[in-house]
Amino acid sequence: MGYYEIKIKVSAEAQEALFEGLTGIGCLGMVEEAGEIIAYFSDNLGIDSIRSGMESVKKNIRESGLDGEISYDFLFLAERDWNETWKKKFQPIDVGQNLTIIPPWMEKKEGRMNLIIDPGMAFGTGHHETTKACLSFIEKIAKGERKESCLDVGTGTGILAIGASMLGYGQILGVDIDPLAIDAANRNIGLNNLTNITIKEGTISVTEGVYDLITANLMSEILIRIAPELAARLNMGCHALLSGMITGQEPEVIKEMEACGLHLLESFTDGRWVTLIMEKG
Ligand code: SAH
Repeated sequence: MGYYEIKIKVSAEAQEALFEGLTGIGCLGMVEEAGEIIAYFSDNLGIDSIRSGMESVKKNIRESGLDGEISYDFLFLAERDWNETWKKKFQPIDVGQNLTIIPPWMEKKEGRMNLIIDPGMAFGTGHHETTKACLSFIEKIAKGERKESCLDVGTGTGILAIGASMLGYGQILGVDIDPLAIDAANRNIGLNNLTNITIKEGTISVTEGVYDLITANLMSEILIRIAPELAARLNMGCHALLSGMITGQEPEVIKEMEACGLHLLESFTDGRWVTLIMEKG
């Protein structure tokens, strides 16, 4: 058996839709590298079916009004090369002051807080700028705040929930609408031997109560849509960490959140993605 590696060029706004589309057509894993998405497929699927899958993903993206300018190249890899290639993509990533994200097959880095994340199909391997920004902000916020509870909306691999747990948050709930993310998050929680994180399938609507920290690394449209519920789930004086917006989209997110009783404390941009810390009250 062999694998196909596909290098895909896609606009920032269509990236999330591309991830979803690729998962839907049987992609085994994907990473972002030097501004491109690298996706892996088993050759059992056959190149014709992968190609037509890619075309239908492109068509869906275009029809949903997003920038559908997507180009891609195929490369065939023999099985042994795939394992090596895939594993090589996942070197330890140092984030913030004290965190390191490592894949399960690697030795823990001494003197660091090691987050073990199995890079499977769910989004959130730590390679994405927004994930890294969120983790460093959780590290920063965790220094001074009440830390009884944390809600992670759109948990993906569970990476932010796992980070929050390691940084001292007590009870943590992660939610995601994607069943694959639920499996991945539960697996990663097990790999890190953590017992204070619960994962639930669904949107923020399946949650209740109030939390000392809410993390949400989601597209701006979703952040805007969930603003009232997000504000309602946040404890007074506590922080919401919002990411996943592309530069230029944040004013609308801030406006919606402000209308729900939050105010902006800090914002960070790497030129393309924006991360916000907002406070309730
Ligand atoms: N928290 C991770 C993953 C972010 S990717 C990280 O920071 O790296 C966004 C995730 O949100 C995806 O796993 C997607 O399935 C999920 N998602 C998208 N819309 C959602 C919604 N309305 N409610 C809950 N999860 C959602």
